[in-house]
Amino acid sequence: MRNIEIMQTILSKIEEYDKIIIFRHFRPDGDATGSTKGLKRILALTYPDKKIYLQNSDYSDYLAFLGGEDEPLEDAEYADALGIVLDTATTKRISNKRYSLCRELIKIDHHIPVESYGAPEWVEEERSSTCEMIAHFYDTFSDRLKIDSEAAKYIYAGMVTDSGRFRFRDVSGETMRLAGVILSVGFDTENLFANLYLKEFKEYKFEAYARRKMKITDGGVAYLYVSNCMKKRFGLSDEDASASVSLMDSIKGSLIWLAFIENKDKSIRVRLRSRFVTVSELAEKYNGGGHACAAGATVYSKAEMKKLIAEANELIKAYKASNSDWL
Ligand code: AMP
Repeated sequence: MRNIEIMQTILSKIEEYDKIIIFRHFRPDGDATGSTKGLKRILALTYPDKKIYLQNSDYSDYLAFLGGEDEPLEDAEYADALGIVLDTATTKRISNKRYSLCRELIKIDHHIPVESYGAPEWVEEERSSTCEMIAHFYDTFSDRLKIDSEAAKYIYAGMVTDSGRFRFRDVSGETMRLAGVILSVGFDTENLFANLYLKEFKEYKFEAYARRKMKITDGGVAYLYVSNCMKKRFGLSDEDASASVSLMDSIKGSLIWLAFIENKDKSIRVRLRSRFVTVSELAEKYNGGGHACAAGATVYSKAEMKKLIAEANELIKAYKASNSDWL
């Protein structure tokens, strides 16, 4: 089926059901939050008689300014609902495991498709964000769907954050056109950017410390380990500590950078980022996945962490040996 036919099928399914439940991946980022809340708002405005719920079992403090989830529904409430899962490549990563109780399930995502679930599935991995797909969905059916400044703000938040403020390589002319469509609805961008990018003073102090602690391999893998002890010392949440990956994103010659964040259970969350080189396959080898240049994984010991760093180092070396246009 072509994407336009899949989108038409999704709209027909939405129109057929009186109850729709929207899901996303756990540890939500701007795209997961923005796409679920943006879609919910568009559907609530367009179909005031339908019951539309956001049912996810975790949340992000960082994105609390966008508002929360709906009160949890009883299991029985799922049976006659259409479920829509956004921004989630695998069922393992769906925040609310009760998604499987829905009568039908639809997947809308822009990650590399590693697991097939949902019918229909609308997956466009070349899109810069799932929010871009929701903007496209709205734009395609704008004669039937309604939008307002609240929905536009959610969608724009996801487009901006998942594209690194329209900087990553999957940003296309179409991304910018759709961003224009959403911006034209009108909302307070100054307030949105302040909420997204202002930091607490303690985060600045931690950044100075993290810059001293980060290391680099001979091939150019920059990496940083953030222990529970460090988080405590600087009064950081897991989410604050995880943001440290972006501190390493502009080092010349460092085509891969990795943040290792110790979890409360002592396992280690890995955030992999790169330019030019693909890291998603490396992430898949370590219980993870994601995009070519932004992926996540989990390791269970320092030894495993060192092994991952060594493999990333070999990836860069191989890339540099056969390419010349990197920086
Ligand atoms: P993160 O570093 O957690 O922001 O993840 C970067 C990207 O990889 C996001 O698009 C995530 O959805 C995806 N990702 C992170 N962890 C995993 C995982 N364990 N499995 C599949 N995809 C992941």
